[in-house]
Amino acid sequence: MTPQAAGWVGSRKLLKRMRDLMKTGGGLQEKLDQVVRMIADDMVAEVCSFYVIRAGEVLELFATWGLKSAAVHRTRLRVGEGIIGDIASQGRPLALSDAQGHPNFAYRPETGEEIYHSLMGVPVLRGGRVLGVLAVQNKTPRLYSDDETETLETVAMVLAETLGTSLIGEEEGRHTDSLSTLPARVAGVVLQEGVAMGIAVPHHRGIVIKQVVAESVPEELKRLDAALREMLDDLDDLLTRPHLESKEEAGGEYREVLETYRMFAKDKGWLERNREAVRSGLTAEAAVQRVLNDLRTRMEKVRDPYLRERYSDLEDLGNRLLHYLLGGQVRNDPSALPDETILVAHTLGPAELLDYDPAKLKGVILEEGSPTSHVAIIARALGIPMIGRCHDLFKLVRPGDFVVLDGENGQVMLRPRQGVRQSFADAIDVRAQRRAGYLASRNLPSQTRDGQVINLQINAGLLVDVPQLHEVGAGGIGLYRTEVPFMVREAFPTVEAQAEFYGRVYELAEGKPITFRTLDVGGDKILPYWSGSSDENPIMGWRAIRIGLDRPALMRQQLRALIRAANGRPLRIMFPMVTEGAELVRARALLERELAHQKSAGKPLPEKLEVGVMLEVPALLWQLPALFARVDFISVGSNDLLQFLFASDRGNPLLARRYDALSPSILNFLRSLAQQTAAAEVPLSLCGEMAAHPLEAMALIGCGFTNLSMPPSGIGPVKNMLRSMEQAPLARYLAHLIESPDRSVRALLRAYALDRGVAI
Ligand code: PEP
Ligand code: MG
Repeated sequence: MTPQAAGWVGSRKLLKRMRDLMKTGGGLQEKLDQVVRMIADDMVAEVCSFYVIRAGEVLELFATWGLKSAAVHRTRLRVGEGIIGDIASQGRPLALSDAQGHPNFAYRPETGEEIYHSLMGVPVLRGGRVLGVLAVQNKTPRLYSDDETETLETVAMVLAETLGTSLIGEEEGRHTDSLSTLPARVAGVVLQEGVAMGIAVPHHRGIVIKQVVAESVPEELKRLDAALREMLDDLDDLLTRPHLESKEEAGGEYREVLETYRMFAKDKGWLERNREAVRSGLTAEAAVQRVLNDLRTRMEKVRDPYLRERYSDLEDLGNRLLHYLLGGQVRNDPSALPDETILVAHTLGPAELLDYDPAKLKGVILEEGSPTSHVAIIARALGIPMIGRCHDLFKLVRPGDFVVLDGENGQVMLRPRQGVRQSFADAIDVRAQRRAGYLASRNLPSQTRDGQVINLQINAGLLVDVPQLHEVGAGGIGLYRTEVPFMVREAFPTVEAQAEFYGRVYELAEGKPITFRTLDVGGDKILPYWSGSSDENPIMGWRAIRIGLDRPALMRQQLRALIRAANGRPLRIMFPMVTEGAELVRARALLERELAHQKSAGKPLPEKLEVGVMLEVPALLWQLPALFARVDFISVGSNDLLQFLFASDRGNPLLARRYDALSPSILNFLRSLAQQTAAAEVPLSLCGEMAAHPLEAMALIGCGFTNLSMPPSGIGPVKNMLRSMEQAPLARYLAHLIESPDRSVRALLRAYALDRGVAI
């Protein structure tokens, strides 16, 4: 028998004994006293203690075997205080061979615990909330194995489910985490823009598992398998729902995302973990819950964004599976939802989102999530505002709370006061009016009052982004981030798959120009199947064209796919993170080989080929003349360029407002670049976020930029602005402003715009 199997048998026996004990009559305290003793016996520990969270975020010792009995109901620790408090606040297990040597150790003399050296504690979780802590201690310093931790976690779960709310009164239970009715603000990351307000509805909360310990393990395994089969069949149905067909018009990822999700449901590791948990003596639903708890704990520790997303899909599948096992409704009953629902979830799977009635679902707030998560892609396709990375959301939000989701500023307002509510309601109205205005102006010329034509283009990454090109009336796609489709896939796409994908982009763009940027992976853009290098400073590390030149097969495959997809149509290719002219020469040589390859195969060559670089590494600025001779266009990547010029990480919130793009130094540089490229007759554009803000866009036009590429939501406001400005007088004013000794000329530019009625 493997040690793990021995662990199952051990804990199975313990679970049965606990269940039998709970069924007997007698007072709760008496039962708890016996339970802790049983656990100590089973785990060969000298101490087993059970702490419960009471009102005011205090942990109270409720029962112990081994510590002094006088400490029961006397010893109290704040959540976060001492090792026990730490386990409660982090919601994850901790095993220490020398607990007293730990910096967080909080000594309570009444417990007599000074003689116990090692400690292992696990959170007692119910419905995703920490109810208390279960801990064992031993005199001799010892290391607890992972199996032992898992056993204690299983036991803690059985305790949580069997005790339910009987430990402390329901009324107190409602106040255990000192949640008040005060307004609160939570910051997050915008996953889908938009402003929404409504009633907080927690996703999949409140699942109550009534039976935890299995009567018959084989029966429970059968139940688990049956539920899994049912779930997979329903996911198949979801893939053939008619509304999916129409979404496919907009983008193939929609289906692809759901297919990937369905694949996770067949993940062998996950299935086996659920089965293992049943074999340890749990019912099928308790086993799934147990694996879910475990997953949440592990997720906390994972930093890799891809793995986090994968875990999050598994978490959603676990939640879904619970509903099948408990015979509940998987699709939510639309009549039970408020008309204005703001869904609140730790994570959410793509299928889960589709379970909610789209007519009632106004917005989604997640504790996890990232812009390339599967659920974010679906939300983008459906236009549902979504904010992610709202840490500790569940500690603050209550079902039924009034919530404002501000997807413009990446914040969530909980229980806002009437005045704040009203101003957001007004903001939603103004936004709707503005959008109607942008829609009306999408066919108007993109031209300044003094006749300067400005070409506005969109940045895109997913197929679902492309149709927005027509919705906002943009001139083309100025930046197609090809790494994005690579990031949401499970494996490196073949040349055929890539060609098909780029071909779809061409079709959806309906003849408008597309600038395909070759793979910009590395740095913060991680591919699940590409381990890359473990750079200490990945943003300045082995990324983008550097990888492409060191792994030419990779770059050649992509270039081949692009040439094939163009199929005789014009092709614009842009290389990212070019640092010196020689890199462009090498990249062009690879492109030439691929063109020759296409020609020798008798296939059509692009009707017109343009090759450009992104200007985002400062060194390139001092090679401009050599560069001009070799490129058809240049596009400034202001996101990266500014972080390198200011030596200031673009993702660090502490530095977010420290330096201003509207500083004399940056404007000076951009103006000089615009002058030099104009003299050399090399087309210039800018495709960073800077272009999307009307005031910044105004300054860029003043510097001489006539091509701007930005997220689609920026086009309407920027077009509105430029149609109300004059380029020539601003250019003169800027010539004077760049001499300023100030750190920023933002205020002066704003005043200039307001004086002249420019719609910033
Ligand atoms: C940039 O750096 O400005 C840019 C547009 O590229 P990305 O944001 O994809 O790095
Ligand atoms: Mg960049």
